Amino acid sequence: MTVQLGMPQPRAEGGSDPQAPQPAGRPAGLPAGLVDRYGRVATDMRLSLTDKCNLRCSYCMPAEGLEWLSKAAVMSAEEVVRIVRIGVDSLGVRELRLTGGEPLVRADLLDIISSLRHAHPDLPISMTTNAVGLEKKAQALKDAGLTRINVSLDSLHEETFTQLTRRPFLNKVLAGVDAAWAAGLGPVKLNAVLMRGINDAEAPSLLAWALGRGYELRFIEQMPLDADHGWTRRNMITAAEIRDLLSVDYVLSTDPRERDGAPAERFEVRARVPGTDTAEGPVLGTVGIIASVTEPFCADCRRTRITAEGKIMSCLFSHEETDLLGLLRSGATDEQLAERWQDAMWAKPKAHGMDHVGLDAPDFVQPDRSMSAIGG
Ligand code: SAM
Ligand code: SF4
Repeated sequence: MTVQLGMPQPRAEGGSDPQAPQPAGRPAGLPAGLVDRYGRVATDMRLSLTDKCNLRCSYCMPAEGLEWLSKAAVMSAEEVVRIVRIGVDSLGVRELRLTGGEPLVRADLLDIISSLRHAHPDLPISMTTNAVGLEKKAQALKDAGLTRINVSLDSLHEETFTQLTRRPFLNKVLAGVDAAWAAGLGPVKLNAVLMRGINDAEAPSLLAWALGRGYELRFIEQMPLDADHGWTRRNMITAAEIRDLLSVDYVLSTDPRERDGAPAERFEVRARVPGTDTAEGPVLGTVGIIASVTEPFCADCRRTRITAEGKIMSCLFSHEETDLLGLLRSGATDEQLAERWQDAMWAKPKAHGMDHVGLDAPDFVQPDRSMSAIGG
């Protein structure tokens, strides 16, 4: 049997559980690559370099931190490079994002990036970071071969930043963002999660700040991936609310460029003539909204994830994890590793089912792992 790409193989219908266990078994004759049962092809690899972090964002980590993985449990630099090589050379990965935890806390980060760059001269390699310590490392990261950077920044107010991240490091982060820009790690993208009653009112001023500096701000809907399990549907700020918050000062219109599998829906931003529906002046830049909960984009998902301990997760909300590193350490060949990766992606759920949480799917089970332990 061959599967036609782009032709979903319907199984889970409407109200059925999209996370329900699926029959195993990837049919023979499929094209090479990370194909799933619904015709999606994963070409965008998110690889976590560590589960450790120096912030404690309330929507991600508990105040006391988590029990960190041992050094031996985490992929070594050589193992990271081998896994990426298999992804790129054998499985059609075209883009790599390094993440964590906080990737900057990894002592051998520069070696990893320069080895990856040496092996893949043309691969776009980006990194998501909280930017603490980036000021001193930005130029070296660029020189090692990093292409671009995404920085998490939820507030420009010291007190709010400290409340959200439980660390007083706003100035370090701002210096890090500017250093990344100066080092040529642009376009710099900023990620902001809005929390009701904490930083939601800051949405327009965050956007004004980003536009003024030429950074692309993206708002991410808060997902139920916090270690404290404090997320509620009622409390999260939805994409519709974000658009409303921004619309007081700005007129947003859909960016005419193709979305091309990107998680963020992009809008062009113009100033609003106060109290009217009219825009004035030129396009000031763009803003993105990643509406993973209320407007999910699972049907067009192109991501494959590797956790810091080398587990494949086909979806952020997978309850299934496939141990790639254990197989690698047992002496497996590249072909065997590629096959295990393909099998894991074949079983990717049709959708995460989160858009119904708190509405008609009270049985949604939050994954055990928090965002920091998966790699966002
Ligand atoms: N430490 C780095 C950072 O914060 O950029 C990289 C890892 S962090 C897990 C990656 C992204 O996930 C960040 O932009 C963060 O805001 C986002 N994130 C973490 N927990 C989240 C949640 N519960 N819902 C939505 N986004 C979340
Ligand atoms: Fe750390 Fe990033 Fe999680 Fe914040 S979002 S606690 S910076 S891993």
